[in-house]
Amino acid sequence: MSACFIHNQLTLIRFARILVLIAAVYSVFSPAHSWAGDPLPHRLFSIDLEGDDETTTVALIFDREPDVSLRMLRGPERLIVDLPATAFEMAAEKITPKGLIQSIRYGAMDKERSRMVIGLRGPFTLEEQRAEKDEDGRYRLAFTFNLASRTAFESMLRKRAVPADAVAISTQKAERLNGETSSDKPFTVVVDAGHGGIDHGAHGRHGVKEKTITLAFARQLKEQLEKIDGVRAVLTRDDDSFISLNQRVRIGRQAGANLFISIHADSVRQSYVRGATVYTISKKASDAMAADLADSENAVDMVAGLDLPEEDEEVTDILLDLTRRETKGFSLRFAGKLVESMDDVLLMIKRPHRHAGFRVLTAPDVPSVLVELGYLSNDRDEKLLQDDEWRRRAATAIAAAVKKYASARMAALR
Ligand SMILES: [Zn+2]
Repeated sequence: MSACFIHNQLTLIRFARILVLIAAVYSVFSPAHSWAGDPLPHRLFSIDLEGDDETTTVALIFDREPDVSLRMLRGPERLIVDLPATAFEMAAEKITPKGLIQSIRYGAMDKERSRMVIGLRGPFTLEEQRAEKDEDGRYRLAFTFNLASRTAFESMLRKRAVPADAVAISTQKAERLNGETSSDKPFTVVVDAGHGGIDHGAHGRHGVKEKTITLAFARQLKEQLEKIDGVRAVLTRDDDSFISLNQRVRIGRQAGANLFISIHADSVRQSYVRGATVYTISKKASDAMAADLADSENAVDMVAGLDLPEEDEEVTDILLDLTRRETKGFSLRFAGKLVESMDDVLLMIKRPHRHAGFRVLTAPDVPSVLVELGYLSNDRDEKLLQDDEWRRRAATAIAAAVKKYASARMAALR
């Protein structure tokens, strides 16, 4: 037996071992069972972390075996665990990070799917263990993370292609110019309740979540908008589910929106800052606070376990470029009307029209604005944001601005 043969044998064995490991990690997760039609969500009773900076195990205890799929992402390193609809019944909402684990987030993605995002402190390799039901009939699913080199991490990651969630706006031709409308078609406003599901958005100092406020407000705004003759309002979400930024943009475009209004109530570092702000898109932010906000808003997909999309390709399409420019003009015009109308009834921030690179405002053909109703980092704003009467007044003011803008647009097209 030549040395070379032995070497080859060893290589083969090593290769086979790696395959077995990969198979252990991934193949087991390929959907073996379908829980479709299963009326009850899975129940997750506990998340336990054990181990140290070399090896950390995250153990999940379910009421029954869940159908799970896994993905690894880099920058930062994360493991995405896609679950069927799951009721998270753990006592504590926040889990104390330990060992290699930096954070664990979880929540609903939609009615049928939930997700857990496990954030790691660095590159890792992964093993999983599944245990049959214990004596209480519960099911244990555990992930063991091992500290690993960047190369080992990358090679494990490559085994799984990440399905891109990006819509290639830059390659699509804009069929409609700036949400043009004709008098026989309703003027469509897409109201986008910021955040949702696994992405809670900001937290008020007294515990209220931004995603709850934005949804309540979006519903209120829809109601006010539908009182206007010839106006139709569409919500991007009407429940507590997660929608990616690209999906939000897509919903706006597919609805043939004449206006897109994204509703938020974020936190800023400056807790004294309060009042409403209207944001439009621009490459360069108007100020440091606007830049910070856009950064944290643009990171929500990452928080929820989506990969950051590729940068938009250079726009070479002249028609699209022109459309974008015209759309921006309409966004600015609407923002002006909005500030005017809101300023009459609400407290607004100093210089209430600001701009920054918010990804949710990037539809080339739908005039879009983002409204920060107030800031959850401010106690008084937090109180107002939860007040029904205040919300009704704010929604009425926004609806009044829409009415003015819509009638001017429709008149121009007649
Ligand atoms: Zn927000």
